[in-house]
Amino acid sequence: MYDVIIIGGGPAGLTAAIYTGRAKLKTLVLESAMLGGNAGQTDQIDNYPGFPFGINGADLMENFLKQAQRFGAEWRLEEVTGIEESPGGKRVVTSQGEYLARAIIITVGARRRELEVEGEKEFLGRGVSYCATCDGAFFHNAPVAVVGGGDSAVKEALYLADLASRVYLIHRRESFRANQTAVDKMLASDKIELKLNQVVKQVTGDGMMQNVILQDVNSGAEESLQVEGLFVSIGLVAAADFIEELLATENGYIVTDEIMATSVPGIFAAGDIRAKTARQVATAVGDGALAGIAVTEYLKE
Ligand code: NAP
Repeated sequence: MYDVIIIGGGPAGLTAAIYTGRAKLKTLVLESAMLGGNAGQTDQIDNYPGFPFGINGADLMENFLKQAQRFGAEWRLEEVTGIEESPGGKRVVTSQGEYLARAIIITVGARRRELEVEGEKEFLGRGVSYCATCDGAFFHNAPVAVVGGGDSAVKEALYLADLASRVYLIHRRESFRANQTAVDKMLASDKIELKLNQVVKQVTGDGMMQNVILQDVNSGAEESLQVEGLFVSIGLVAAADFIEELLATENGYIVTDEIMATSVPGIFAAGDIRAKTARQVATAVGDGALAGIAVTEYLKE
């Protein structure tokens, strides 16, 4: 029996683990895929305080984990498939077994939204990718495209501009959601070409992807863009399937109060999986700290 099981090993989960570890609660962190979640896949994080020249996301997350482990938190790579009520606490069912805990913090984050166009699934891993820092190296001196107009898309385009021969940024509007500093940097790059008011209609190829078919949202005209890679960065969707039947949610995101308590006593949520407006490392860390403190108080009661 653990005092707390934290589901998700990103910034929110690892921060919560630092707090519950320091409170001497027996803590287990379960992560389904990869340390650090989306932050761990980010090449350079420039808006997390304490690093005046920025820091690599994987390095930052490695530090978070070491800090949580220093206070006794256990770490396991296992996918959680469900949470059930159990006498004295909750039962967490994973791909490899079951664990019992007196309280749970869900910090599973959000995953990348898919375009849902023809060819996207077919060429996944053969040109189509959702992570430039993971797959960008495969496209040295090759033409690539990025879809989206938010912080992720602009960051991906800037990252790829250092590797690829040409980067097309495909966006369905003319203005960007991304922060202006990043947009200005992108506009100044002679490697990045904007394809505005365009949507991706289809990904085509033969074995490997070769073209992206674009459609102009105003005229309906189609254009075929010859690229070897397509990086889809069109936002996030809630990452956990198992939560919706269990907890109150809004568009798949968990509704919490200001101390990160969900609609079910003993279950807390923090980070990107929470229904909220900003999804940053700094806000996830704040959520994780609050959840760690709230769980500690809950277990004292
Ligand atoms: P986002 O801010 O939600 O932006 C998604 C972009 O994709 C929007 O420009 C949207 O267009 C476009 N889009 C959505 N669905 C589309 C579709 N089906 N076809 C074509 N385009 C589509 O998502 P994000 O960039 O992944 O960022 C998610 C969160 O993480 C945000 O809060 C962001 O600030 C944060 N983040 C921050 C940083 C940072 O360095 N500070 C880095 C990465 C992410 P419209 O604009 O027309 O809606």
